[in-house]
Amino acid sequence: MTSSVGSGSHRLMRAAVLHGPEDVRMEDVPIPVPGPGEVLARVDVASIDFTDRKVYLRGQHPMIKIPGLFGHEWAGTIVEVGSGAETRWRPGQRVVAANSAPCLPDEGPVCRQCRRGRPSMCENIQYNNGAFAPYILVPSRLVRINLHEIPAGVPAEQVVFTEPLACVVQAVRRVPIHPLDAVVILGAGPMGLFWVNTLRRRHGPDLVIVSLDYQDDRLAVAKIIGASHGLNSSGGNAQALLRAAIGRPDADVVVESVGSLAAHREALGLVGRGGTLVSFGGVAAGQILPVDIGRMHYEEIGIQPIYHHTPPDVAEAARQLAAGEVPVERLITARLPLSELRKALQMVGERTTLRTILIPEH
Ligand SMILES: [Zn+2]
Repeated sequence: MTSSVGSGSHRLMRAAVLHGPEDVRMEDVPIPVPGPGEVLARVDVASIDFTDRKVYLRGQHPMIKIPGLFGHEWAGTIVEVGSGAETRWRPGQRVVAANSAPCLPDEGPVCRQCRRGRPSMCENIQYNNGAFAPYILVPSRLVRINLHEIPAGVPAEQVVFTEPLACVVQAVRRVPIHPLDAVVILGAGPMGLFWVNTLRRRHGPDLVIVSLDYQDDRLAVAKIIGASHGLNSSGGNAQALLRAAIGRPDADVVVESVGSLAAHREALGLVGRGGTLVSFGGVAAGQILPVDIGRMHYEEIGIQPIYHHTPPDVAEAARQLAAGEVPVERLITARLPLSELRKALQMVGERTTLRTILIPEH
């Protein structure tokens, strides 16, 4: 195939650059040239999520260096392969990637967290950004462990949620759930909906899954994709609603998939005897959740935080999406050209869209 991007070229692309809080600019920057082991891909579709909005509002995040290229969910097509990259990669292949890679044994020292089997806590984790651009450079570690080919016939849009779904795959793998359990998922945004879908597929029709949110349109989607109940808890009466729906005011597993202190507090209040709060939504450091440690001890209330994903979770997420196991068409509620990134960020904040797909111009 002919590539529009030649090695050593100084061609420019119009990409999103984050400069600080609420300061993102579309700028002409050089199209990257892949170094040893790296791959350059054309971004066919990108996806914007709540993390992007948080990064945009805060102007900083552990995932990104400022000023820097922005965006972390994409699927595309390889246009150039750097020297020494694995021979399985070639121009023209359609691919999807995660946004990070942990230590690899033959690429420098392996950190203590990776050695103890906790790669999502990797101390040398390498993040990658730049999905909101016509082209993205994939670093060598990522090429080796978190880049996946898209099967023939599967549209790029169908697998673009590989990275966020991988976070849910990790969580569902690590949180023990019994067939008799009731699970409450607080938040029916895209991540909460991934939770509903993944739990239903994994645990079958008998698991009680309750979706809680303030928006009826989102709760309707939750019920379509597998929630036993969708309850609008905007009146602050979640316990009463739960009692009416499932005969008890609490649940065995309560997933906070909102990302706020208030939602964590509400979620903890819904955890029953022997139950677990899953802290899944990310909250800025410094926010304090009060815990009744008497109750925590005598009722064995657990708190299980889940952050990010590991390479096997990314592979499993890519597989599930390519196999059509996730109702992606219900989650994509808007498509915009990349040039309308600011509007897309605003829509995330207003919660008028579940997921917006951004399409770069090449
Ligand atoms: Zn590591």
